Amino acid sequence: MRKKIVAGNWKMNLTWDDSQALAMELAMLQSTQGQSGPEMILAPAFPNLVAVAQAIKGAAGMHLAAQNVHQAASGAYTGEVSVSMLKSVSCTHAIIGHSERRQYFGESNQLLAQKINSVLQAGLTPIYCFGETLEEREGEKTFKVIESQLREATFHLNSDQFSSLILAYEPVWAIGTGKTATPEQAQEVHAFVRKLIADQFGTALADGVSILYGGSVKADNAKELFSQPDIDGGLVGGASLKASEFAAIARSF
Ligand code: PEP
Repeated sequence: MRKKIVAGNWKMNLTWDDSQALAMELAMLQSTQGQSGPEMILAPAFPNLVAVAQAIKGAAGMHLAAQNVHQAASGAYTGEVSVSMLKSVSCTHAIIGHSERRQYFGESNQLLAQKINSVLQAGLTPIYCFGETLEEREGEKTFKVIESQLREATFHLNSDQFSSLILAYEPVWAIGTGKTATPEQAQEVHAFVRKLIADQFGTALADGVSILYGGSVKADNAKELFSQPDIDGGLVGGASLKASEFAAIARSF
């Protein structure tokens, strides 16, 4: 079912104590929104997952995500974390394919397909990120790139599996740069993605998938972005590190 969602990607920021304090403040602010608010997903760094799990325990509409996961179930992969480990600390979601993982860690669409498979198999929800670089946009390759990122990492799934995904369109040129895609630019890509999904899996499924926008979302631009017909919320980096700002984004629907 299509849901309104705000997800905070804390990246490699905050200690255990900072993470717990931020999550507790957000849980308090989120409780004032009642049933009408969006789902809120928090993605702290691995060592702080437990701190956040404790802080949001019992908070309605709040969920815990990892920022990454290894594709194998277990084994000799020094420094990596498996899906069952995430599950054991109450993680329900995992961000897959963030542009920083693609750019700095060389993650390909093929590898991301494997990660999505592992996450789904364990019953967790992947938040699959995709988006074009500035060079690709300027070279008018945006739609081609996005189609490959979706097709190669997710179109092998069956309808049931695909319908459990959350998608996040994150133009790389807008991440952490302060340059937000205009609501029209973002809507154009979201509508394109929904049409691709409809062509592959049918309209009913496409209408039910939540597609988030990410890239310099802030309290003062969220409302306009979230009012677009195919934008179901935001994946937020920098602005999710401050409780008042992130809570204001969550109130922007
Ligand atoms: C992100 O990291 O997913 C992101 C969108 O970052 P920012 O909001 O800081 O641009």
